[in-house]
Amino acid sequence: MNVFTVDHELCRKDGICALVCPVHIIDAEPGSYPVLDKHKAVYCLSCGQCMAFCPTLACTAPGLEREDCRPLSAQDMPTPRQADELAFSRRSVRNFKDKTIPREDLIDLLEAVRFAPTAKNTQNLRWILLESRERVVQLAELVVAWMRELPRIDPELDEAMHAGGLVRAWD
Ligand code: SF4
Ligand code: SF4
Repeated sequence: MNVFTVDHELCRKDGICALVCPVHIIDAEPGSYPVLDKHKAVYCLSCGQCMAFCPTLACTAPGLEREDCRPLSAQDMPTPRQADELAFSRRSVRNFKDKTIPREDLIDLLEAVRFAPTAKNTQNLRWILLESRERVVQLAELVVAWMRELPRIDPELDEAMHAGGLVRAWD
């Protein structure tokens, strides 16, 4: 049974979806509509690559919706110069404005971050969003309290991460 939805009105039978699928589970015979057998579907990574590369928005992978995988837009890609500038200008920021970032902006950022690569698209990361300065300080205090205990509970880790120096800097 084919579990790969293909709009026959739109599909050009060019096999691009099969070509770009990272786990090669889509079968595309020349001149035929692509097929994804339900026995192979268990290997689908839900990466949406087939949908993003389809030139006519004809296909939908199992478990994904069209809005999960917007098509790629060549004109929105950074130029080599812009990509270089972005990499070059990255810095570790340690001073922050005392200004609250709107929740919608944070949600948008997290949505973008979600597309960072993870092995087999497992996205096995969890983010904790602290929306007030007070909560950030509270969390820092908890971490410092843990570091104070490190010499007793894990002397090796204490030494490796120079926890004593970090605690002194905090105090
Ligand atoms: S990439 Fe799109 S148009 Fe091409 S074969 Fe697959 S579904 Fe059809
Ligand atoms: S969503 Fe599934 S079928 Fe589509 S490219 Fe990714 S792994 Fe292949």
